[in-house]
Amino acid sequence: MSCTYVTLSTGQMIPSVGLGTWKSVPAQVKQAVLAALDNGYRHIDCAAAYSNEENVGEALRERVGPGKSLKREELFLTSKLWNTEHHPDDVEAACRRSLTHLGVSYLDLYLMHWPMAFEDTWKAMETLVDQGLVKAIGLSNFNARQTDLILSIARHKPVVNQVECHPFLAQQQLLTHCRDRGVAVAAYSPLGSPDRPWASPGEPVLMGDPRIKEIARQYGKTAAQVIIRWHVQRGIICIPKSITPSRIQQNLQVLDFQLTDEDMKLIESFNRNERLIIPTVEASATIFLTSNTLKKKYLQ
Ligand code: NAP
Repeated sequence: MSCTYVTLSTGQMIPSVGLGTWKSVPAQVKQAVLAALDNGYRHIDCAAAYSNEENVGEALRERVGPGKSLKREELFLTSKLWNTEHHPDDVEAACRRSLTHLGVSYLDLYLMHWPMAFEDTWKAMETLVDQGLVKAIGLSNFNARQTDLILSIARHKPVVNQVECHPFLAQQQLLTHCRDRGVAVAAYSPLGSPDRPWASPGEPVLMGDPRIKEIARQYGKTAAQVIIRWHVQRGIICIPKSITPSRIQQNLQVLDFQLTDEDMKLIESFNRNERLIIPTVEASATIFLTSNTLKKKYLQ
């Protein structure tokens, strides 16, 4: 077996490890997705904002569908609604654009990429479920309070909250908060995103941390495998990105060993509440907001 799953509140089974595609440039991402599918990945994490969904789609067209090696229903595909498409009138067109680029008739999961203007946007996303364009909808980068707000107004509940999470940002409180409310957590930048564009010399490199490397040595695994195994054993979803076939393969090979409870706790103790993915908002940008409640509650 090359896969474990997390069961979502809809009953959908999402593979615990998926392939991330942020920063995978168009010329590389097709080969990366092909390598992933050929090595047993059944979960690909996409987004309109990554500007490479058409190239992901090229790979899907080669492997998925009638007469190909995989059936569409064997695959779990996620995409995300970008911040500039939050006006309720823009949501369906944005989703259809991702579907066209990926070359599929439905998404398994459609996330609101960042929490902005979210009440009315959520209602528009719910319509996508009614129309059968997406099987489920979810959140990304939502804190506990924002998650609760969506839960309080939702007709279709969010099934996932995808947030930055790794041993330097263990997110234990948010994890418990979401779990208690039936929202699964997906860890993005699960390996510490060493290729994030704004990384600068001297910043902590998670996979290079001597304590992680020592644990990896003890298990005869790589630092990446130990970190991915830690996510999987916490019962959360994670989506490591790679364009390197050997790493893509390696990142899925995390089921033939188990971290002890002591090592799980030890890795959790490396938490430093350190956020690597920090959103920037231009001061001059106009933020679309229609809900007075939101203005009152969240913009004070
Ligand atoms: P990440 O997966 O933590 O790290 C990716 C980096 O790790 C790449 O430089 C990759 O190199 C390297 N790597 C992968 N496997 C490795 C291995 N086995 N050994 C050594 N190095 C390895 O970073 P991320 O891309 O920031 O996050 C993963 C995914 O989460 C994204 O791609 C995206 O799908 C999603 N994400 C979502 C949000 C959001 O706002 N919702 C934000 C950030 C990320 P190579 O590619 O060169 O092999």
